[in-house]
Amino acid sequence: MQQPFFSTYRKIIISGPCSAETENQLVETASLLAQDSRINLLRAGIWKPRTRPDTFEGVGEIGLNWLQAAKHQTGLATTTEVASARHAEMAMKYGVDVLWLGARTTVNPFLVQEIADALKGVRVPVMIKNPISPDIELWQGAIDRIHRAGIHDVALVHRGFKTYGQTEFRNTPLWQIPIEIKRRFPEIPMICDPSHICGKRSLLSQVAQTSIDLDFSGLMIESHINPDQAWSDAEQQLTPEDLKKMLDHLIWRSASVIENKSTEPLHALRAQMDKIDEELIRLLGERMKLADLVGACKKDNNITILQTERWNEIRNRLLDKAISLGLSQEFIHQYIDAVHMESISHQNKIMNI
Ligand code: PEP
Ligand code: MN
Repeated sequence: MQQPFFSTYRKIIISGPCSAETENQLVETASLLAQDSRINLLRAGIWKPRTRPDTFEGVGEIGLNWLQAAKHQTGLATTTEVASARHAEMAMKYGVDVLWLGARTTVNPFLVQEIADALKGVRVPVMIKNPISPDIELWQGAIDRIHRAGIHDVALVHRGFKTYGQTEFRNTPLWQIPIEIKRRFPEIPMICDPSHICGKRSLLSQVAQTSIDLDFSGLMIESHINPDQAWSDAEQQLTPEDLKKMLDHLIWRSASVIENKSTEPLHALRAQMDKIDEELIRLLGERMKLADLVGACKKDNNITILQTERWNEIRNRLLDKAISLGLSQEFIHQYIDAVHMESISHQNKIMNI
């Protein structure tokens, strides 16, 4: 591909099956997708990284012929996941237009470097999914390695993070991580993959809409002519027709403020918020000065920093108050715990250092 790929789209929509299963399945899915001009790129997994053995691990090289056939029939550009230098070389040999690094590859610097080395001197657009674990530096490391190989036609894909325990999502979004990566690399498009975040169809549109409202640059959504019969990720795939309906309902908003009469209140509201933020920081500083005095007093009287009973009582009191003010339990837990840890660290300095 000679032209830069990602910079030609204001927003990019990628769809196609989780896995290429048969030539028919892929070409038929692609033909239905191609009827919707909003779809820019056809995806299909050829080599599938599966958590457990004895599950379908992809059709391998033969599927690259099917991707070519789908491209030939529909005109759609194609993309597939590469998890080794060999995959990358084979995909390029078969004319796959865009390569992507999956979450289980980004997590492994050896593999990322091996792929980066294979791409030196080649002009191929690359998408980098976030690593499985919520480790922002690993994601940045993969971006740096691909950049250093001379590849700058890059996009990122947010597919959520594996966290311990049961949550409503297959992979928790942890939106603060893609937001931070967007801050570090404002010029690289960030695409959301609601399919792997949600793991089930019913949550897809709400996550897709959230990503749009966080100024993401596109979506990667799995689709299949017969999702319930899919050989991988059956519960999260949509028919091309349902994908079209979902896209019809999404609202694309603008990240820049175009000044007019009705945007005026925004300035006053933001000024008020900025003032409150500054006041909150000032108050936190005051609070920590008190923590220093408390630490000195505990030291003089040989009292431990933590008294679990008092801590429990503060936590419950603040939680009740916060909930009555419309704050979420999750936020207030994180906030109180952060303030408490900062207070402990202040007292520890006074008492022990
Ligand atoms: C996929 O896109 O099908 C896939 C395996 O994704 P991830 O690397 O995000 O798990
Ligand atoms: Mn999948």
